[in-house]
Amino acid sequence: MKKCAKCEVIKDDSCFHMQGNKLRSRCKPCRKIDKKAYREKNKEKINAQAKKYYEENREILRIKASAHHKMNKEKINKRKAEYKLKFPEKEKNKQLKYRQRIKEELTDTYIKEVIKANARNKNIKIKNIPLSLINITRDGIILKRLSYGENINDREEVLCKIKIIDSIINIKYLTLVLFQLKMV
Ligand SMILES: [Zn+2]
Repeated sequence: MKKCAKCEVIKDDSCFHMQGNKLRSRCKPCRKIDKKAYREKNKEKINAQAKKYYEENREILRIKASAHHKMNKEKINKRKAEYKLKFPEKEKNKQLKYRQRIKEELTDTYIKEVIKANARNKNIKIKNIPLSLINITRDGIILKRLSYGENINDREEVLCKIKIIDSIINIKYLTLVLFQLKMV
């Protein structure tokens, strides 16, 4: 039995954390309150430290996170599935926002989907799409989007560029198909 230095209640030893081989002076619930107050008071400092730590250890943290994900895949997937069931609207919203974002930002993921959807070779594998094809497809999409815009001074020029890019894309597709055939 020990008296807490803060709340001054006499409690069982199990209500105190150990510090080395001694019991701490404050009980577990009091320490919890202390820690929370400290976090509130030093929020900015703690956030800055966490950010600095993340930036300095980015690579190792990424590897750790990936390993953790691999080891706990089933558990994580189960939790995700439960969340989806519990909050279907939230999940739908999240998906919509994600789709909108990758479409607006023309991320590699989005471009790869576009390439796959338009590829003549339906067996094309997302992971085999070369970066050069992704980049040129992105350029093509940007030009097409520009041509639909209202502030185009020289529409003809844009359309001409699109034609050139389209033909390059077709040649690239052909190369890709040949490449894939060799792989099979
Ligand atoms: Zn206490």
